[in-house]
Amino acid sequence: MTLKYCQGPDCHTYYTQDRLKGMKGNKTYQTRRRSRLIYDEFCDTRCYNDWFSKYGTQAVNHFGRLKEVKHLTEQNAWDKRYRWEYERRNGQAEHYYLNTITMEERPLTEEQYNDTNYTLNER
Ligand SMILES: [Zn+2]
Repeated sequence: MTLKYCQGPDCHTYYTQDRLKGMKGNKTYQTRRRSRLIYDEFCDTRCYNDWFSKYGTQAVNHFGRLKEVKHLTEQNAWDKRYRWEYERRNGQAEHYYLNTITMEERPLTEEQYNDTNYTLNER
């Protein structure tokens, strides 16, 4: 099991017993190492937030800043839904697609519902 270092820039500055390591007279607070990390990078949400506070804007600029509004149109507003038995009225499908703009419903088979590749949305 490989341990990874928490990427929180201030991880080593937080006073917890598990971070305090070393022999007497030579102890230091150290960056946490974990086999499982939040988003594979951070020991806890404080370290995650620290990283984003420090680097978030740079990261957004690096990977592409949104510069105009995005639109979800009728052609892409189909959302897979499931209706419990008590919610069903006569003839209503258990699995269905709902267009969240037009509110049109179209029945789905269970296979279509579970098939992550099946969609009515235009790509
Ligand atoms: Zn950390």
